[in-house]
Amino acid sequence: MYECDVVVIGGGPAGIAAALSAEACGAKKTALIERGGKLGGILNQCLHSGFGIGRFGSELRGTEYAEFLRGKIAGSKVEVFLDTAVIRLGSDGTMLLSGAYNGKMKAGATVLASGCRETPAGALPIAGSRPAGIFTAGAVQKFINVLGYDIGERILVLGSGDVGMIVAERLVQLGKEVIAVIEQNNRCGGLERNRLRCLQANDIPLLTGCTITRILGEGRISGAEAVEIKSGREWVIPCDTLVISVGLVPERELAEEACEGGVIPPWLFICGNAEHVHQIVDSAEAQAEEIGRKAAAYAAAEHRKRC
Ligand SMILES: Cc1cc2nc3c(=O)[nH]c(=O)nc-3n(C[C@H](O)[C@H](O)[C@H](O)COP(=O)(O)OP(=O)(O)OC[C@H]3O[C@@H](n4cnc5c(N)ncnc54)[C@H](O)[C@@H]3O)c2cc1C
Repeated sequence: MYECDVVVIGGGPAGIAAALSAEACGAKKTALIERGGKLGGILNQCLHSGFGIGRFGSELRGTEYAEFLRGKIAGSKVEVFLDTAVIRLGSDGTMLLSGAYNGKMKAGATVLASGCRETPAGALPIAGSRPAGIFTAGAVQKFINVLGYDIGERILVLGSGDVGMIVAERLVQLGKEVIAVIEQNNRCGGLERNRLRCLQANDIPLLTGCTITRILGEGRISGAEAVEIKSGREWVIPCDTLVISVGLVPERELAEEACEGGVIPPWLFICGNAEHVHQIVDSAEAQAEEIGRKAAAYAAAEHRKRC
C-alpha cells in the first residue's frame, strides 16, 4: 500500500492547485493522480484564450495555461501518477488505482478534484431517436481541437452557456456553418464577453426563448424540430450535426461509498468543478488552494494524534 499525507484525485487546474497548496502548507508527501496522459484537465482541449486573467492580468490559451501549471508541478515535490484512474474510494479512505499504477493508496487527507461531466443527449426530454451526428460540446472540443476529427458541416448548437458558445466559434473558424445557438431561457446563458466574441462577431444567430423538441433523421441526423416556447410556434431546422451544451454536473460518483448517508467524512475534501461548476479557472484554483491548505492541516493533525 502506497501511503502519503495528502492525495489529490484529478490533475486539472483545481487538483494541481490543491496539491501545490498542500505541499506549501507542510504536507511532506503529496500525490496527484490523473487518469489522462498529461496534467491540465479541461484546459488541454481549450485552444481559445481567456485563461489566467486573475493571475497574469492577460489572457492565455487554455493549452498555454495548462503548460504553465505543469511547469509549477515539475518544480515541486508532488508525486504525479499519470494514466492512472482511481476506481474506488472506500469508507476508510483506501483507494484502488488502475492503469499505469495498479494497487492501493491511502492518505491522511484525500482531495477529490475530478471535475464535472456533461449532460448527454439521452438524458434530455427531446423526442425522436438518437442517430449519428449528435455530440456533447466537450466531446466536440476534444475531437476537433485535440484529435483532429471532422464532426459535420451544418451545425446546430443547443445551449448558450460558455462552452456552447466557445465551441460554436471554433466550428466557424474551421469553416463550418453554425446555423444557430438555441437557448430556452430568455437571455444568453454564458458570459457577455463570450456572447460578443463568439456569437456576435461571427454572425451566429442566438435564438433565445426557444428549444428543440424532436430530432429528425435515420442513420444520421437530418434536422431538428424547434419551438418558440412563449408562442408555441414550431418549425424544422435542417442540419447534419447537433451539439448539445446544456449543463455540467459535478463529478462526485467516486465519493459515494465514502460519503455514507450523504455525509462527507472529515478526511475527504472536494474542490474545483467536482464541488461546483466554476465559470473561470481563477475561481476554481482559489477554492482549491484553500482546500489544499485544509487537507494539509487535517493530515498533520491526524499524524500528531497518532504519534
Ligand atoms: C469549454 C470550457 C471553456 C472554458 N473557458 C474558460 C475560460 O476562457 N477562462 C477561464 O478562466 N475558465 C474557463 N473554463 C473553466 C475552467 O476551465 C474550469 O473551471 C476548470 O478547468 C475546472 O478545473 P477542475 O480541475 O475542477 O476540472 P477539470 O479541468 O475537468 O479536471 C479534472 C481532472 O480530473 C481527472 N479525473 C476525473 N476523475 C478521475 C479519476 N477517477 N481518477 C483520476 N483522474 C480523474 C480528469 O481526467 C481531469 O483531468 C472553461 C471550461 C470549459 C469546460
